[in-house]
Parts: sequence; C-alpha cells; structure tokens
Amino acid sequence: MNKLLLAGLLLAALAGCKAEREPDTKTTNVIDATVAADPNSFAQPDKVRIEHINLDLKVDMAAKVLRGSAEYRLQWLDDKANELVLDTRGIDIRSVQGLDGKKWRDLPFKLDAEDAIYGSALRIRMKQQLPQVRINYATRPEASGLQWLAPEMTASKQPFMFSQSQAIHARSWVPLQDTPGVRFTYDARIRTDKSLMALMSADNDPAAKRDGDYRFSMPQKIPSYLLAIAVGDVVFKPISSRAGVWAEPSVVDAAADEFSDTEKMIQVAENLYGPYQWGRYDMLVLPASFPFGGMENPRLSFMTPTVIVGDKSLTSLVAHELAHSWSGNLVTNSSWKDMWLNEGFTSYVENRIVEAVYGKDLATMEDVINQFGLAEEMQGLAPADQLLALAPLVGRDPDEALTGVPYVKGQWFLKFLEERFGREIFDPFLKHWFTTHAFTSTHSAEFERFLEVELLAKHPGKVSIGEVREWLHEPGIPSSATPAQSKRFEAVDAIQAKWLAGKLPAAEFESKAWSTQEWLRFLEKMPATLSPEQMAELDTAFAFTGTANAEIAQRWYPLTVRSGYLQARPSMEAFLTSIGRRKLIMPTYEELAKTPQGREFGLQVFEKARPGYHPITVGSVGKALAEPVPEPATAEEPAK
Ligand SMILES: [Zn+2]
Repeated sequence: MNKLLLAGLLLAALAGCKAEREPDTKTTNVIDATVAADPNSFAQPDKVRIEHINLDLKVDMAAKVLRGSAEYRLQWLDDKANELVLDTRGIDIRSVQGLDGKKWRDLPFKLDAEDAIYGSALRIRMKQQLPQVRINYATRPEASGLQWLAPEMTASKQPFMFSQSQAIHARSWVPLQDTPGVRFTYDARIRTDKSLMALMSADNDPAAKRDGDYRFSMPQKIPSYLLAIAVGDVVFKPISSRAGVWAEPSVVDAAADEFSDTEKMIQVAENLYGPYQWGRYDMLVLPASFPFGGMENPRLSFMTPTVIVGDKSLTSLVAHELAHSWSGNLVTNSSWKDMWLNEGFTSYVENRIVEAVYGKDLATMEDVINQFGLAEEMQGLAPADQLLALAPLVGRDPDEALTGVPYVKGQWFLKFLEERFGREIFDPFLKHWFTTHAFTSTHSAEFERFLEVELLAKHPGKVSIGEVREWLHEPGIPSSATPAQSKRFEAVDAIQAKWLAGKLPAAEFESKAWSTQEWLRFLEKMPATLSPEQMAELDTAFAFTGTANAEIAQRWYPLTVRSGYLQARPSMEAFLTSIGRRKLIMPTYEELAKTPQGREFGLQVFEKARPGYHPITVGSVGKALAEPVPEPATAEEPAK
C-alpha cells in the first residue's frame, strides 16, 4: 500500500479480459520454514495449506455484517497432522463441515481465547486428512478489516462498504491462514442490495449488470492480505482496453481524467520488468475515509480520492499501486518483518515509472521529499526498527512495521545498487528477481543470497558484501547512500531564504509554475514556527488555509498549530472531519496533542470526525490524543 503519498477509451475493448494470460498455477511456494515462520499468524502452513477458497457471502448493509460460508481446498503436507488451524478475529462461527467422500459432515471445532493483537485461533480437528472444509460464519459490525459507511458519508448518499486486509485484518472477515507466506486462489459469490455494485480483487467485469448477485474468480495465487471486497454505488469508466476506474458517479469523470496516464504507466513497467500478469488493471476510488493512500488489491487497486487534485501532480500513487503488480503482489514478503521486499521495491519501481512518464525533475523532487520525511521519522524510531531486515515481529502488531523505513530506505538501497551497477546491469537483474520468484512469498535472506550470486559475484568490484549488510542489518542511513538533490528545490529554498530574511514579500514570489512538490518543499523547510504576521502574509498570498490540496494541508495545519495561528482552526476542523487518510491528518493531530489546549481542540474535532473514520484511523487518532500532555517546560521555540 502507499503510505507516503500514497491511489478510458473504447467499450469494445471491455472484452479484453478474454485475452488474459493464463496464470502460472504451477509455481509453488518454496519457503524455508525456519527463516520464514510468521509469528503474526496461528496457522501452521508447514502442516497443511489452503490452496483455494470458495466464498459465498451476503452483505447486510443495515446490520453491518457479512454472512455465509467459506469453503477451502486443502493441501496436506504433514502425514501426522490432524488439525486445521485458521486465524480469526471477532468472527462468529456457526458450524464447520468436512467433505468425507461425497458427504459433508459436521466437524468439532474450538476457538482459542482471544489475543488482543492476533485474535483467536480456530482449531478444527479431524480423524483423517479431509481434502475440503467448509465454515458457516458471520462477521461483526466492528470487524477491523471492514468499514461500513452510512449513506450520508458518501458522495451519492448510498451505503458503502470496503475491506482493508493488510496487514492482518483479513482474519476479521474470512477465517483463513492470515500470513503472506501462504498463497491461494479464490472464487466468490457476493449478494447485495440490488441497487449496489460489488467488486473484489478478482476478475471484475466492467459491463457487469447491477442485479445484486455477483460472481468472481481469482485464478492467480494471492496472499490473504490481498483479499478485498467493496460494495457501493460505483460506476465504471475505461482508460484503456485493460485499465479503468470505478468510482461514485459524481467522482468518476474527474478520476478518469486524473488517472488517464495509467496505460502509459503499465507500458513503462512492462518494458522494464516484463508483462503485466494479472489481466485487467482497474482502480476503485473510495470515499475520503479510506485510511491509506492506496491499497494494491490485485486487478483492482483501492485509491484515496485525495490525490484527485486536477493536475496529475499526485498520480505517483497510481504508479505505486501499479508497481505492486510486480513488486509485492507477484513477489512478496513471507512475513511482515521483511516488508521492504514489498514496499521498498515498489517505491523504487514507482519512481522509475514517474521518471519515465513525467520526467526526472518530478522523480527527483519526490525522492527528496521522501528522504526528508524518513530522516524526520527516524529520529523517533528505535534503532532496531531502522533496519530493512527486521527481527521477527514476535508479539507485535505488524502494522507497527509500517514506517517509512521499508518504503524509503528500501527504495534508497535499490537506487544505490542501480547507481553502482548502472541501469544496463541493474534493470535486467531486478527483472530476473521478479521472474524467478513470481507468485511466491520470500524473505530478506533469500534476496541477500540472490543478490550475492546474481549481481555482486557476476560484476565484482562494484559493491561489497559489507555495504549490502550495512543497508540490510544496520540502523540509520548507510554512509554509502547518496542523498537526492533537486535544482528546482534549491530555487524554492533560495526564495524562502529571501522571504525569511524580510527581503522578498510573499506576493512577489515567482511561484506561478510551482508544482505541488515545490509547495511541499516550501512548507517543509520552514522554521518550526512563524510569527502571526508571517503566517498571515503567506495565507493572504497563497490561501493555504482551506486549500483543496490535502498534501499541502498536511504540512500547513501543523505549522499553524505550532505558530498559534488560530484563524486556521475552522478550516483545519473541516479538513480533519472530511478526510480519514492517516498520513494526511495524523501530523495535525500529533501537533495538537503537544499542548493541553491543542489536545482539547483535537478531542473536540475527533468527536465529530470519528463516525466517518475507518477503525484503523480511529485507533491511530485515539492513541495520539490519549495521554494528557504536560505543560511544555519551555515556551515554543521562536522562529530562527
Ligand atoms: Zn505500497
């Protein structure tokens, strides 16, 4: 998913999915169990694995539950095993049956006591190893992986529901082996209210009749975190013969315009890393409460609407989610400690796509912004959390591993390799990694081995093992890293320096052609606080307060809090109550939480905003505002 930024032509072309490549179903997961064991799952995939799931679910929008069944085809790996252990969290299990010969018969089952982070292990005992098991169940309204939006919270005033399974939320809506180390295929029948459309991370049909009864098939193996569903009043608009946008009717045209370069992006990635292997690539634009930038659900990326700003300046989100079709969805981490294999590779591929489609300037500016954010974030991270190859996340919530480290440091490492070896060597190497590991889940030790054999040994003298180990196993940014540098940002810095020195009024900036990224640079490089006069001058010249660009708002409102610029409060409140994307709103809440008065205001806003937030966002904001803050020992730093 994209944490940092992180989101048609001819109707005749809608038949394009018929020409899809046959999925590679022969590939199996070859995992060294000792290196790849996943402490965040109760499942025992070394004994038995889910190969295929058949879902049959009814969506009850009024009760906010899914009801129905999941049927599993199993592959038994251990002759002595007589138990299937699945991950669940807050799921009501009605009955469990096994296919014995041609007859389904009831099987005894037991739910373990609930663990606060991991939920409950569901243990299904059987006398012999049955090939198929079926579970009848219902979810609960508070399922952490589902958000149920009331009609008034959407553009079309219709109810809306969507899932967010990564990292370990799939277990709250389907009992399964909830570890990225297991891949399975799936089919589904989803029944909804007739007026609503259902979509999944599967073969969505752009021409599907809206009749409340939908069938899906996902022939490529995916890990549980890529299982996805959405139900709402959404319509389709094509971008190319194999790409398009689903969104609420009032949003779909703007979304298709904003994302119109998607086909170009697919072609850039294919030229670098080989054919797109998933058939269609569509995007679903969610309501603004979506807690992330995007989620790379295969064939159907889920996107925040906050990147639809009218000038394509934030469409690196599309590049990011699309890049996951190679890095992540095709080759992912077998447990969450190695998330950089997924997000770092994706951030690298994203930046290559952005460079090819929009030019080197924009790609470099994004690198500088990301590296700036990483440096800031690392100051608050324990050294052990600054590694790319993390220690197993025993007893931890894998969402905690979701820092900028796997994304930005991971990307930076690959960029370092690219610079040392040159693209003519590094590009084929990366393609070779994706090709040889396609449809598997892997870990850092395997990448380290592959890197040594396929790159370092074949091209000696360019990078040492010691340098690789420092990147993977040491905290901080290695001394071999070259920071990104942007000439356009240097120009922004020069203008800012003159303004801060009182030598250039804001009204006289030559900033008409500035991109979103240049504005972000301008705000990020500000001193911690500004005077009321300076804040008012900026606001008069550029109308930051009330900006429709949420990336700018993310940087401006915390500055207003630190600077005591209370005029911004009504617009800040509107921003915080209309958007639920964590990356955008957390900096303002965190800044508010630093003083008792700020915290009080933050709590008032949270109270109003809460019904529209996703459970994941509610958790984050609640945590940020939870502790009463002591009065600061010293007054806030004056502007320097
Ligand atoms: Zn991502």
